[in-house]
Amino acid sequence: MPAAPNVVTRFPPSPTGFLHIGGARTALFNYLYARHHGGTFLLRIEDTDRERSTQPAIEAIIEGMKWLELNWDNNDKIYLQSEHMPRHAAVANEMLANGHAYKCFCTPQELEEMRNHQKANGLPMRYDGRWRDKDPKDAPAGAPFVVRLKAPLTGETTIKDHVRGIVTVQNSQLDDMVLLRSDGTPTYMLSVVVDDNDMGVNTVIRGDDHFTNTFRQVQILKAMNWNIPEYAHIPLIHGSDGQKMSKRHGALGVDEYRKMGYLPEAIRNYLLRLGWSHGDDEIIPDAKAVEWFNLEHIVSSPAKFDYMKLDSVNAHYMREMDDTKLAQTVAARLSEATGTAPDVAQTAILAKGMAGLKQRAKTLKDLTESAAFYVTPRPLPMNDGAKKILSADAKAMLAALRTLLSDLADFSATSIEASIKDFAGQHGKKLGDYAQPLRAALSGSNVSPPIFEVASILGKPETLGRMDDVLK
Ligand code: GLU
Repeated sequence: MPAAPNVVTRFPPSPTGFLHIGGARTALFNYLYARHHGGTFLLRIEDTDRERSTQPAIEAIIEGMKWLELNWDNNDKIYLQSEHMPRHAAVANEMLANGHAYKCFCTPQELEEMRNHQKANGLPMRYDGRWRDKDPKDAPAGAPFVVRLKAPLTGETTIKDHVRGIVTVQNSQLDDMVLLRSDGTPTYMLSVVVDDNDMGVNTVIRGDDHFTNTFRQVQILKAMNWNIPEYAHIPLIHGSDGQKMSKRHGALGVDEYRKMGYLPEAIRNYLLRLGWSHGDDEIIPDAKAVEWFNLEHIVSSPAKFDYMKLDSVNAHYMREMDDTKLAQTVAARLSEATGTAPDVAQTAILAKGMAGLKQRAKTLKDLTESAAFYVTPRPLPMNDGAKKILSADAKAMLAALRTLLSDLADFSATSIEASIKDFAGQHGKKLGDYAQPLRAALSGSNVSPPIFEVASILGKPETLGRMDDVLK
């Protein structure tokens, strides 16, 4: 594919809530497309709705983007739409001056009557253009007005969309939309177009829900003689049952995914596959994503959010992760959960334990829960399964095992296993007969990673100490 020299994309969330998973996917696609072309990816906060926009939402969006490592260009600078409202208004006035817009003095009551009339007569509900050709002098002095686009009455508006294909709408279907409200503030539709133009955006990748807006936006672009960007409208994400995404389906802020224990690289990979494909590849690491991403392979049907797939992608990236790094992440989560941070020695123990634990965990949350016993201070709490195992007989066996282990010079997993096996044989028992009480003593549970490995990782003093605790 020939490299477009100056691809400029943008992600323009409205800060009325957190960065949700659908928004994150839109951001990712824009990010990847820009990176693929060596172009520019910009972040714009669409905060012109002063009532619904909040500072915490702006911060959550920025944090979410940073956590997902979707770094935007322009030296990290964020384009705040509200700062550019005077410019948006100036464009509306320019359109007034060059005849592409006009003042409409309709009162709310007149508009209401117009709508009622259209409703009663089964007509399409749209502004009837009554001020299009009127002289503003006909309006009462000082009467409030809005500025409307003087949209073409005939002909058609066509959009070439990389996902939807070529779609045409008759101009007669589109009414003269408001550009400036009566208080002089620009409408959302105007602001988007002016900002995209001023930021040099030439590729707009966004949710399908904005597709119908595009026709009106193109009319403004044409009126201003500005370049029309490339468009790709991506189908929305649905729940696994095909229904509209709700919280239950995973329509949550990205921070919730962090808390649930997903890695940012897993979320990126999963979101990429959710709506874009590269053959049958499921695991697409970042470098490949940048190399391969294109608009042609955006899937044109709605994607279904599937936690099981996300889990399996996450498990993959956890297994790939360096054990020391993974242990540090687990240590941080343990510290968040318990208020006590594992020290350097404990973090080293966790790192040794990762290989055995990460095979079975799906999320960092699972992994942290299953790793906690390595660093839980003695005496360990025993779960019901462990209590059940630790009968008087089991304790007697454990006491014998304690002597055996305390004399063992080589405390590697293989050596521990070999000596216990031997010992069990001598006493007419099986390895498992000893392994279970040992598991209970060392992990406080009836399930754990291979227990000889656990003993070896804990080391002799801690192993014997934990055994003593249950023998007391
Ligand atoms: N601010 C809009 C939103 O959050 C996006 C507008 C656009 O992509 O053009 O849905």
